[in-house]
Amino acid sequence: MGKIRILDEHIANQIAAGEVVERPSSVVKELVENAIDAGSTRIDVTIEEGGLKLIRITDNGSGIEPDDCETAFQRHATSKISTGSDLFRIRTLGFRGEALPSIAAVSRMECITSADNSGLGKKIVIEGGQLLRVENVAAPRGTDIVVRDLFYNTPARLKYMKTIQTELGHVSDFLYRLALANPHIAFCLKHNGNVMLRTLGNGDLLQVIAAVYGSSVARSMLPLQGENIDYTLSGYVSRPELTRANRSAVSVVVNGRYIRNYGLVQSLLGAYHTLLPAHRYPVAILRIGMDPSLVDVNVHPSKLEVRFSKEAELHKFVEGEIKRVLRDHVLIPQLPAKPASKPAVVQEQMEMYHSPPEPPRAQPALYREQAGLETEEGKRKEKTEKKSENPLPQVGQVRNSRNDGPAASGGAFRQRHGWPLPEAQEASPPLPKFPQLSPVGQVHGTYIVAQNEDGLFLIDQHAAHERINYEYYYEKFGVPEQASQELLVPVTLDFTPAEAETIRHHLPLLEQVGFYLEPFGGQTFLVRAYPHWLPQGAEKEIIEEVTDWILTEKKAVDLSRLREKSAILCSCKASIKANHSLSSAEMTALLQRLGECRNPYTCPHGRPVVVSFSVYELEKMFKRVM
Ligand code: ADP
Ligand code: MG
Repeated sequence: MGKIRILDEHIANQIAAGEVVERPSSVVKELVENAIDAGSTRIDVTIEEGGLKLIRITDNGSGIEPDDCETAFQRHATSKISTGSDLFRIRTLGFRGEALPSIAAVSRMECITSADNSGLGKKIVIEGGQLLRVENVAAPRGTDIVVRDLFYNTPARLKYMKTIQTELGHVSDFLYRLALANPHIAFCLKHNGNVMLRTLGNGDLLQVIAAVYGSSVARSMLPLQGENIDYTLSGYVSRPELTRANRSAVSVVVNGRYIRNYGLVQSLLGAYHTLLPAHRYPVAILRIGMDPSLVDVNVHPSKLEVRFSKEAELHKFVEGEIKRVLRDHVLIPQLPAKPASKPAVVQEQMEMYHSPPEPPRAQPALYREQAGLETEEGKRKEKTEKKSENPLPQVGQVRNSRNDGPAASGGAFRQRHGWPLPEAQEASPPLPKFPQLSPVGQVHGTYIVAQNEDGLFLIDQHAAHERINYEYYYEKFGVPEQASQELLVPVTLDFTPAEAETIRHHLPLLEQVGFYLEPFGGQTFLVRAYPHWLPQGAEKEIIEEVTDWILTEKKAVDLSRLREKSAILCSCKASIKANHSLSSAEMTALLQRLGECRNPYTCPHGRPVVVSFSVYELEKMFKRVM
């Protein structure tokens, strides 16, 4: 007796559901795609509890013929292809005939549909894959599908569902993509009664971009329009000054289908090469058209990935088109001439919290100092015997206090996560005292050369300034209450509806560091007040980066990390960059303030601030000692 049996249809559907129906957003995706394939011009999506309780999709498309109603819910039942060769010229989003039976297998489903304007239609009720009823009902043309209690009969899957917010995030993200891919369809998404997205369906992609990302994003977009014999490209890309912390605002649409494609995103980023700061990404909607025979959509169960037959050509075309648009529109860098204004701001800031620099001591010229080294040689040699006291990295040995400093508590973990050192450091013992240094000069507008009787020191001026500023701002963000100022001209920030939810959630936290944001209808927030000591001219940018960071970190955000992050952002903005020459008075002030820092040895990103060469090492290098 053989042991192999063909599985019954019920089990087969549950297995297929495991692939096709991963979470509520997959149901929304499949059902909305069906509505799109049915030629709908308006699609309403209503969900409750992130979709776990209820998902309802109502469309005004072709409807399902009465005779097809039961068949549609069977496995491998589709009206979209009939022969093998159809697979190579697919123009619809669906074709596998798996969605309806798979969803029906893991939920309680009701479908009312009518294929004409008679006012009559069919109602099908299925629970856990069992057909319960088919009846005649009154119905307008189109289809109305309700999915309740998703995964009620597959507890293992249900257990893997995340919070309602997370599931909602996935659903709305999918719907944004589908709306961006179909500007001629009017979409409406409601969650627990609140409208999360509404598009007009008038074919205006910019309107959809405004509905999804906010109107200020829509205003910063540049239109794409190009073609060659094989491909067409339309859509929008953002001006380089509008960036995001991750690539989630990049959407690629091929023949109307939203897909994930690493190569095409790389082509997009390639086109921006050098125009974007490190780790920043544009907002983009790339709509690519091609003959269906050039793309294989049958490579992924949920059809999110596709394969192109002339991939390299496609990448080249897309990159070239976007480059051209950026070149045509972005002739002059849009960033305000920061380098020119920086020194003044920096100077002001330094004065604001540096005790006024002492009148510059006469700075001996380099050669005289060297001469000095010679005359006092004996004395210094003696000092350098106690080399171990020197807390600074020696030449060829860069100290990273995250790993080896006294402040390295939890260093490995924080380093892995790119976190800076915990600055509160209440628990950690103070670092060795920073030596008294006198500046000798500046190298390449970037490094300060300094000395004391122990040796020679090189200080990265930007890292040093960042450290000083960081500690200054960190203190400041600890007591923000009295500091926030009301704005005369309020700044507004736009988000996607799901992002707006996250921000709303974090408003009390933001207030604790002095950023007062106020919901201003829908996805827009008004910045009512912020600390008056934010680096001048960079206020908006800092608030945007702080909110961006919250959106990326979500759950990991707490007050101490927010304080750290805000302080780091301010210190970067306020610090002198490399290639800026400093007067001796400025160098003296910088070194003195550095010495007053809790941790003068690394910048807030963990890079070293200072390296040293002991007199002994110098002497060894010059073979004065053996
Ligand atoms: P597929 O989309 O791959 O064909 P589905 O299981 O998603 O498979 O749907 C099965 C069939 O049911 C479709 O081919 C289509 O004929 C019909 N159908 C499903 N949803 C709708 C809808 N909203 N409007 C009209 N027809 C639909
Ligand atoms: Mg389908």
